[in-house]
Amino acid sequence: MKYAERMKRLGTETAFEVLVRARQLEAQGREVVHLEIGEPDFDTPKNICDAATKAINGGYTHYNPSAGYPEIRKIISDEINKTRGLKTTPEQVVITPGGKPVMFFTIFALVDKGDEVIYPNPGFPIYESLINFVGAKAVPIPLREENDFRMDVKELAKLVTPKTKLMIINSPQNPTGGVLTHDDLKEIARIAVENDIWILSDEIYSRIIYEAKFESVTQFPGIPERTIILDGMSKTYAMTGWRLGYGVMDEKMAAHVSRLQTNSNSCVSAFSQIALGEAITGPQDESNKMVAEFKKRRDVIVDGLNAIDGIDCRKPLGAFYVFPNTKQLGKTSKQLEEYFLENYGVAGLAGTSFGAHGEGYLRFSYANSIENIKKALSWIEKGVADLNK
Ligand code: PLP
Repeated sequence: MKYAERMKRLGTETAFEVLVRARQLEAQGREVVHLEIGEPDFDTPKNICDAATKAINGGYTHYNPSAGYPEIRKIISDEINKTRGLKTTPEQVVITPGGKPVMFFTIFALVDKGDEVIYPNPGFPIYESLINFVGAKAVPIPLREENDFRMDVKELAKLVTPKTKLMIINSPQNPTGGVLTHDDLKEIARIAVENDIWILSDEIYSRIIYEAKFESVTQFPGIPERTIILDGMSKTYAMTGWRLGYGVMDEKMAAHVSRLQTNSNSCVSAFSQIALGEAITGPQDESNKMVAEFKKRRDVIVDGLNAIDGIDCRKPLGAFYVFPNTKQLGKTSKQLEEYFLENYGVAGLAGTSFGAHGEGYLRFSYANSIENIKKALSWIEKGVADLNK
């Protein structure tokens, strides 16, 4: 049987593959510390679960408008206006099953075969996968350690050609935890306006930020009308399994994205949307507590990794990942991913899971308890010592 040609161009997210392997090892009785998957280890706050239960029992169990319930879209547009200083309307919001479909829909709505799309590398692997899937040219902008994993905006300007249709930015960033500065965003905005380029601004980690202040590229003139903001509930409210996200964009673009949703998911689960409304309008203490806890864990893992000979780790300003440099260990990222998992029970990801520029790095998610992080650090230390024997 033959499959469509385009399937050869579709990539994946290897975090799920490493998770499967880690679970196999556990089934064999091995102990594994999970630092591979990007999801908060906390439970969804109770007020949100209660709102969903009430909604199910109250009849929110039917189809609803493709873009989402108008009152929930209003809650999102108010939130975006409050946090980004914009003047969006509910008609500019499309609620989606997770933030991920916003990538899919944006690229499908905007990018033709032969167009060029600039995307961060290392970066969330689905960007590159989808750009290739639609037959466009994926143009990586390398994120370098010496630049604290921010894109070099001078380099960005050089990558733009008349075919550049879209630029993808992500701050705070997965996998590096890098955060773009005000000046970076200003320059990105200038390049986009001058060259008439769309922006997909992946702001899913906007609330998980430490010493830095979150800023959106949409603060600059000429940008809101050419930008799709991607955000969602997964990370901020520990709601990965609920599949709740949203895109905020120009009204015409929202109509296209909504039509893509009609053609695929139809709409987002009705009671989940009520939970989304509660998450945004209800008390924020649980979410704030999670961020404070992530910060403590970040300090433990960064200090612990830097104490190991041969590993260097920058202190990330946001998200819940570290991206240590492992070049001195003399093995590829993939070899180290396997080495630490198979022999020492530490599940992490090769930097190359996030693109070719991730070679020489590993990604560890510190969405795990301090106790487990300390255990993983001691196992990594042993693994490194054994490499030198
Ligand atoms: N964007 C980035 C950078 C991510 O890391 C993720 C998840 O890992 C997402 C978007 C999508 O998350 P979800 O579809 O769960 O909202």
